[in-house]
Amino acid sequence: MKTLNDFNFNNKKALIRVDFNVPLDDNYNVTDATRIISAKPTIIKILEDGGSCVLMSHLGRPKGFQDEFSLKHIINKIEDILGVEVKFAEDCIGQEAKDMADSLKPGEILLLENLRFYEEETKGDKEFAKKLSQLGDIYVNDAFGTAHRAHASTTIVADFFENQKCFGSLLAKEIESINRVMQDGEKPVLAVLGGAKVSSKITVIENILDKVDHLIIGGGMTFTFIKAQGGNIGDSICEDDKIDLALDIMQQAKNKAVKIHLPVDVKAADAFSNDANTQICDVNEIPDGWQGLDAGPKSLDIFDEVVNQCKTILWNGPLGVFEMENFANGTIALGNSIAKSTENGAFSLVGGGDSVAAVKQFGFENKVSYVSTGGGAMLESLEGKTLPGIAAIME
Ligand code: AMP
Repeated sequence: MKTLNDFNFNNKKALIRVDFNVPLDDNYNVTDATRIISAKPTIIKILEDGGSCVLMSHLGRPKGFQDEFSLKHIINKIEDILGVEVKFAEDCIGQEAKDMADSLKPGEILLLENLRFYEEETKGDKEFAKKLSQLGDIYVNDAFGTAHRAHASTTIVADFFENQKCFGSLLAKEIESINRVMQDGEKPVLAVLGGAKVSSKITVIENILDKVDHLIIGGGMTFTFIKAQGGNIGDSICEDDKIDLALDIMQQAKNKAVKIHLPVDVKAADAFSNDANTQICDVNEIPDGWQGLDAGPKSLDIFDEVVNQCKTILWNGPLGVFEMENFANGTIALGNSIAKSTENGAFSLVGGGDSVAAVKQFGFENKVSYVSTGGGAMLESLEGKTLPGIAAIME
């Protein structure tokens, strides 16, 4: 696996695929700059080597050129974060971009306009990728969020840099963190899978059964498993067509000596609303008209014990409807357990969709070992897929 440390960028131009797909408000202010901040170490290392950087990214899902999706809106923010002036090419390919890249001096940064103004980007067009490739000497991929897409700038462009390509430090860290859970995790290894539906996590569950010693299943997924075992789940969310699958997963886990932990009690509500009436009940005895929206106290004690005995922890998906204050307790308690275990030496990785939002919302970001920056890319990694953007650098 080639990283930045395998190259000296002195007098070299790095063509870097970053993920600057940041959220903007109506006045084009960046409302969450995490992705720009995350790319900083790679950019600074290259500049400090005496190199220059050509940055390429997408922003949103434009249809052709649309001013609202122009990366020009975030130049100031990038300059603030990097502390370096950023030049801007109003077209990501073409003569002007080429001239600007050619005249870039060591220590300078050029930002290219939104790659997705060209549909060739998402189509993985070879000619388009070739034009991009002419803007740098060494290709650096630091965009984990798009590593699962075989787009021109994330994958195809790498074909034009035979040995002159590597992972940026963010992407390298993502890969190391995933490997630390999926390949060489210190035992016991635990995965906590929550979220709404079994159907969106089947492949993850099946792949992960080969990697873990313990599996906590929480969130809305719980009830398909409980119903499969004959429990009364009241009006809780359930995928009836996945009941056989749930039983099959339980059997597979048994065969593989993986211990599955499901909630034993839940906080049930008489409506899907923060203002609903609530009661704590046995997970197998939820009355009709009531739905389980969070893990109950006994479950959280059991989960805490499991989390604390494990040395490697993966967390994907909330334990309850954490967006509603009255049903956030399970997710917060689990976050506290993982934080405590991490403090005691466990390695903890949080990734994929809503668990990242929860971790940020409840302030656990700096209390776990690593928070992944890629939702879909993370999920596909957990499913055991080789991501095209990663494979393209390895080739
Ligand atoms: P996912 O994207 O699959 O990780 O699902 C996250 C969503 O699952 C969040 O929006 C939660 O509100 C939702 N969720 C978690 N627990 C439950 C539950 N018991 N009932 C309904 N939705 C839930």
